[in-house]
Amino acid sequence: MKFESYWHDTAPRFTGASASPVEGDYDVAVIGGGFTGLAAARQIAKAGARVVVLEANRVGWGASGRNGGHLNNGLAHSFISAKAELGTERAIALYRALDDSVDTIEKIIAEEGIDCNFRRAGKLKLASKPQHFDAIARNFEAVHREVDPDTALLTASDLKAEIGSPFHGAMLSKKSAMMHMGRYVVGLATAASKYGATIFENAAVTSHQVAGGKHRLTTTRGTVSADHVLVATGAYTSGSSFSYFRRRIISVGSFIIATRPLTEAEIAATMPSNRTCVTSLNIGNYFRLSPDNRLIFGGRARFSATSDQRSDGKSGAILRAGLAEIFPQLAKVEIDYCWGGLVDMTKDRYPRAGFVDGVWYAMGYSGHGAQLSTHLGMIMADAILGKPDRNPLKGLDWPAVPGHFGKPWFLPLVGLYYKTLDRFQ
Ligand SMILES: Cc1cc2nc3c(=O)[nH]c(=O)nc-3n(C[C@H](O)[C@H](O)[C@H](O)COP(=O)(O)OP(=O)(O)OC[C@H]3O[C@@H](n4cnc5c(N)ncnc54)[C@H](O)[C@@H]3O)c2cc1C
Repeated sequence: MKFESYWHDTAPRFTGASASPVEGDYDVAVIGGGFTGLAAARQIAKAGARVVVLEANRVGWGASGRNGGHLNNGLAHSFISAKAELGTERAIALYRALDDSVDTIEKIIAEEGIDCNFRRAGKLKLASKPQHFDAIARNFEAVHREVDPDTALLTASDLKAEIGSPFHGAMLSKKSAMMHMGRYVVGLATAASKYGATIFENAAVTSHQVAGGKHRLTTTRGTVSADHVLVATGAYTSGSSFSYFRRRIISVGSFIIATRPLTEAEIAATMPSNRTCVTSLNIGNYFRLSPDNRLIFGGRARFSATSDQRSDGKSGAILRAGLAEIFPQLAKVEIDYCWGGLVDMTKDRYPRAGFVDGVWYAMGYSGHGAQLSTHLGMIMADAILGKPDRNPLKGLDWPAVPGHFGKPWFLPLVGLYYKTLDRFQ
């Protein structure tokens, strides 16, 4: 078994990073080479401005290269609770932003000719318990009526043609998609550099200063100056320069295993409809087939951050048990990959984007950012370029998490709380 992301292992390496010393003066400096940062850099470079991406590791090293591979449209929250929490107008705007995100990615892939197995597969939100189906049905009615007619409610008996596991029904979101995340992120970086963006890898930003209206970003390999800065570091935000974000982003480990390629007969018995699937438990699972027919099966597993093979291995064992529970027919299947990554949660699980303390930012996707990060990255790029503001999150309050200064000490307690809820609800 490889303790490595399947997406990293099966994508080409990005070859366009600059080997020159990290220096120069730019219109915009983007910190972070994931979907958010690279989509912004592509947009800024396309507009003819000078943009630099400073990435601490390599392009796609963070969540963008480690996720479940789902490009789900619509909100991760129930639409009904989003309306109650955000107001109807913003809930609809955010739902549509997620829809638009999948369209945006589809357009970029076509424009740039990125070979990444993009497919409108549809998403199933699966009811793990009978009472969860009632909640899914209520939410479906509101979604279908008010914001997304491309949805359907499937009963347990409809589901027999969809999945080889006895769930209690599901909501199908037909516009949802899937793709190879590793190939897409490398394609996005290649497109950004084609338009003139400079991308430095292994260039972690260690300090940020502002003098005479210019930002100075010192990295482990040199210093750049820029008129504008976009912070696109998600769950991997670190250091004292960006403590505003560290007090608001809760970095939570999420883990994934990938089986060996399944046979035609195994696919027919488990995932015949080949969609993205998410279960309804608070500590649930998400899964899909890879382009080469592996079952990519993820979940929170443990409330720890990924750190080393031993730790990821423990999470992998928990996930294997979860996989066997959902698909007993695959209980003995070989697991070829096991990896983990950090999810940039916010307290209310809504993302945030805007301008604070002199810098632009987009983050806090809370496990639902594989699509929104590209879209918001481009929206923030347009805002930096002085184009009309399309930010669906503008003005959304973002208080600091009390007692949180970067290390989420409270996660085991939160985990216990949700496990208890899952037992009784
Ligand atoms: C296991 C897992 C499964 C997921 N599954 C899904 C899914 O199926 N569908 C979905 O929609 N979302 C999913 N997500 C979330 C999604 O992957 C993220 O929301 C999205 O990739 C965020 O992209 P980003 O560019 O903002 O951040 P990232 O991709 O995390 O990029 C941030 C980058 O910033 C760099 N960085 C950090 N600090 C510095 C510094 N000081 N200097 C320079 N660079 C720095 C990091 O090295 C990193 O590469 C999942 C996430 C995880 C971890």
